Amino acid sequence: MSSTQTAIPSGPSNRRASRSVLVAHGQRKIWVGGDAPVVVQSMTNTDTANAIETAIQIRDLARAGSELVRLTVDRPEAAEAVPYIREQLDKMDVDVPLVGDFHYNGHTLLNDYPECAKALSKYRINPGNVGKGAKRDTQFAQMIEVAARYDKPVRIGVNWGSLDQALLARIMDENAGRAEPWSAQAVMYEALITSAIENAVRAEELGLGRDKIILSCKVSGVQDLIAVYRELAKRCDYPLHLGLTEAGMGSKGIVASTAALSVLLQEGIGDTIRISLTPEPGGDRTKEVVVGQEILQTMGLRKFTPMVIACPGCGRTTSTTFQELADNIQTYLRDSMPEWKKTYPGVEAMNVAVMGCIVNGPGESKHANIGISLPGTGESPAAPVFVDGAKFATLRGERIVEEFQEIVLNYVKKNYSKEYVQN
Ligand code: SF4
Repeated sequence: MSSTQTAIPSGPSNRRASRSVLVAHGQRKIWVGGDAPVVVQSMTNTDTANAIETAIQIRDLARAGSELVRLTVDRPEAAEAVPYIREQLDKMDVDVPLVGDFHYNGHTLLNDYPECAKALSKYRINPGNVGKGAKRDTQFAQMIEVAARYDKPVRIGVNWGSLDQALLARIMDENAGRAEPWSAQAVMYEALITSAIENAVRAEELGLGRDKIILSCKVSGVQDLIAVYRELAKRCDYPLHLGLTEAGMGSKGIVASTAALSVLLQEGIGDTIRISLTPEPGGDRTKEVVVGQEILQTMGLRKFTPMVIACPGCGRTTSTTFQELADNIQTYLRDSMPEWKKTYPGVEAMNVAVMGCIVNGPGESKHANIGISLPGTGESPAAPVFVDGAKFATLRGERIVEEFQEIVLNYVKKNYSKEYVQN
């Protein structure tokens, strides 16, 4: 890099269309980049060496909608378990492609455990954790050679928590020679981007096809992520894996990921996403899949599950029926999707409104495929239901939740079943 370059500016990216990379397992083909929809992926948090526990979590992540699942391969026992995990998943009819996450010893594991290398559909290589000094280039080359041998794509995944220190020192030296040195932040951005692109170029020189490379440069700050990916997108046309690393727990993790990713996705940057949420103790790992899907669906980029439009409730909703119904319907729709996806194509585009009173209830319900307007405080205890904009029924009494669910199911059967659509 010449010392006449300017610091990374902010502003909209002129993202060129990325190339597409195929990540496959058997008949299951997931395209990342090009015109393909943005892919949702996730990562396990089980010990990979515990094959059964890991296979069960991968099954759950896949059923929740994860289109790729990454698992750490950190030691011989884990590498040995990978083909067995794959076998168990295949027996359960779970064909989600698996991505192996390698640090420090990937070159050894991939070479010593060829069945692991073959069972994985993609390898993640962190160029900051490949080795030091003279060993670095050799060990990186060994991993790329395995990928080329088995025709597997790789993600060159840079992370600022494990940035290649030799490369950072080089970029800092170059910066020191500038008439007007960049800020430490700009130097860090440059080091991340340079690490990703230089290693991708090196992988190509080593014989890996250009259509086998995906890049990522993960950081944990929202503004940092936006700045780095805008620049990365300008400088290359490799598909980009997008994610805010160490996003955190609960609402903070969700909000931070959404803030960062939605800005970039809106600019056409990002071909696959992973939401790095820290689960609550005993929490459900599939939450990261749901959040990823919801970001894409609420932005109008993809459709995964029928959407529930619910008002926030206010002083007009003094009973809990409204919250219970909204929650019940949301859960019912999401839980039904793995089966509905096969039986009722297109159902993911359906909208259901659950509204708390007469103020906006009937109006919003008419805009949805199915809507219910519950009685607010002081209103007569009747809940009008609207189907495709017209009044369909009025529900009363203790069984409103069950009866509304029945109306939703009948609507789905009537409008999305294959037989009905064909006829
Ligand atoms: S629809 Fe009714 S209950 Fe819901 S927020 Fe508006 S006024 Fe309140």
